[in-house]
Amino acid sequence: MPTRCALTFDFDAMSVWLGSYKTRNPSMVSRGEFGAIAVPRILDLLGKHRLPGTFCIPGHTALAYPDIVKRIRDEGHEIVHHGWVHENPAEFDEAGERENIEKGLEALHKAANVRPKGYRSPSWDFSERTIKILLDYGFSYDSSLMGSDFIPYYARIDDRFDDKTPYHFGPNVDLVELPVAWVMDDFPHFEFVDKDTYGLSAPSKVEEIWRDEFDYVHNNIPDALFSITMHPQVIGRGHRLMMLERLIEDFSRRDGVTFSTMGAYAERWRAENPLAEWLTSGAPQAQSACGRDAL
Ligand SMILES: [Zn+2]
Repeated sequence: MPTRCALTFDFDAMSVWLGSYKTRNPSMVSRGEFGAIAVPRILDLLGKHRLPGTFCIPGHTALAYPDIVKRIRDEGHEIVHHGWVHENPAEFDEAGERENIEKGLEALHKAANVRPKGYRSPSWDFSERTIKILLDYGFSYDSSLMGSDFIPYYARIDDRFDDKTPYHFGPNVDLVELPVAWVMDDFPHFEFVDKDTYGLSAPSKVEEIWRDEFDYVHNNIPDALFSITMHPQVIGRGHRLMMLERLIEDFSRRDGVTFSTMGAYAERWRAENPLAEWLTSGAPQAQSACGRDAL
């Protein structure tokens, strides 16, 4: 059964410690510097297997490591907007959220002269305005929501929800959503952040989870995008990179498996599933085409 794999790498570097964890502890911030050591290792691995990668890069990282961002670009990989300094969009008003999007765009342009088509929000956090803002800035796809496992869908605007009234689905819009999941993210499995994340898993556990997820998709869901979210400062440790290479070699041997950037997959999926036709496809997320309330 055809299956496409997307190897995605969120090159957060120091930004995740500054923006998400809000630390000013130099030792904690220095953890991000390892990302710059790890990206060349990842690029070498992708080059060895002739695979495309997708790199989600905050503007703060792009300005800190422009030469690495240029190498990512020059080796043919996709670059995706990943916020300014790994901030939570919901902590800003609309003007602030737009400013962060613009600062991220300007930084990627300055570092490597790229204009990304895709967006992945820092820590996958959203405000209620994020989808509309992404449309305003011309993004064609997002990869931050969790409304499916590996099946793309069109994002919605104007959902309304609280704990007193029925869920109200807003209309779908022309923004392809490539869903994500924490179980497919290396950070909670492997990282250690005191009072937050106690990962430090052996690779054997993660390898089992990711291989079984792949087997299910490959055997049951045609034309899915099997997407893994990794972070250079996490996956770049030797024992984890060896796990990643074992998985790459395993997936590559299966019938009908190809590797794709998220952008190439989203473009093809949109062409094959235009919004107007997809709304009649019976997809659960499309039941809201008229913005009707859930029963
Ligand atoms: Zn990130």
